[in-house]
Amino acid sequence: MIEDHKGDPRWPQNYTLEQVHAIQRKALLLDIAKKYTTFFRVENTGDAVKNIGLCPYEAGSVKQAFTVDVTKQLYHCFSCGAGGDVFSLVMDMEKVSFDEAMDILEKFSRKEKA
Ligand SMILES: [Zn+2]
Repeated sequence: MIEDHKGDPRWPQNYTLEQVHAIQRKALLLDIAKKYTTFFRVENTGDAVKNIGLCPYEAGSVKQAFTVDVTKQLYHCFSCGAGGDVFSLVMDMEKVSFDEAMDILEKFSRKEKA
């Protein structure tokens, strides 16, 4: 547990930082994001590979403003400003705490491996 964030549902409560990092390596942001939205194109800027699609934070939007940087494992929406990592995406989409997002990602990465 990260002491500074005890009781904060947006931070790990029952997981160690090592466990968080292990999941982060297995549960790739783009794979998870594809559960919630559609991607249309890939842009390679030389130092970053970005997948661009619809923003899952904006229901019904047709703007291709949502980008997933597969190098940094971060997302950003140029339309609404949403941004974060695989954990914040699952927390926001599933309306769950960090620990619940960990459980979801753990299950997901097990299924992917099988
Ligand atoms: Zn957006």
